[in-house]
Amino acid sequence: MADVLTRCPVCGSAELRKFDVTRDIDGNICDILMCVECSALLNSYAYESLHGSTAEQIQKTDLYAATSDDPPSFHLQEVKQAGSYFQYLADCGIDVSRFGDQVFCDFGAGRGYVALAACQRFRSVIAQDWDTRGVSKIRDSLRSARSDYTNLDIVNDLANVQAKIDVLFMWHVLEHLPEPTEFWLSQLHRLNEDALIFLQIPLYRPAAVCRPHYVFYTERSLERWASEIGFRPVNFGYDAELGFLGMIARRVSAQSFAK
Ligand SMILES: [Zn+2]
Repeated sequence: MADVLTRCPVCGSAELRKFDVTRDIDGNICDILMCVECSALLNSYAYESLHGSTAEQIQKTDLYAATSDDPPSFHLQEVKQAGSYFQYLADCGIDVSRFGDQVFCDFGAGRGYVALAACQRFRSVIAQDWDTRGVSKIRDSLRSARSDYTNLDIVNDLANVQAKIDVLFMWHVLEHLPEPTEFWLSQLHRLNEDALIFLQIPLYRPAAVCRPHYVFYTERSLERWASEIGFRPVNFGYDAELGFLGMIARRVSAQSFAK
């Protein structure tokens, strides 16, 4: 195992200790390691599973990618409800009046309801997913219901995007990235100078332990991840019933960020 996971993918520390041995939702025995430096919990079994299959192959088996035959009225209702994410940002003091000039990216968009809701608020919206069938199908279904999504760009790779992102939305995505710090360091040039990240992750609970989830974060490890890529948390929010933790983080300006 040590040859698989020798350092923390969040902060780079080599000091990893066994935290738990548990079964994931499919019954596989998983060693859970804790990074002593940043307190990230690492699913060794998920990392071992990377041998022989790519992260993309594992993630594509995820149920979020399922397409839907629900009627347009159902999708419209979901898009309407997704407006609550933007209300939450306003409630947290984010200047939502700037959204009209900004670019929103739903990274790991799944069905894309939040991206579709963002289309009414942002100048331009990117819905990214390895599997774009879900969001494409729903957009097409809503187009026939007279809704217009001309400012929506659906991509399977951010490399296909020219615009700089102002608001990066990642809902239950970060835990799916085996190298969250390395990955976002490599994508930083796609984010604007004062970009905002708005994300939610599952906390370490039995129902969340599964092969596609590599890292379980705490406030401390999320803050460390943000700091590693030049962001600073402005808000944490817990959903105690569902076991989720949300974070809003702002990019630290190039002047004050010296690393
Ligand atoms: Zn760490």
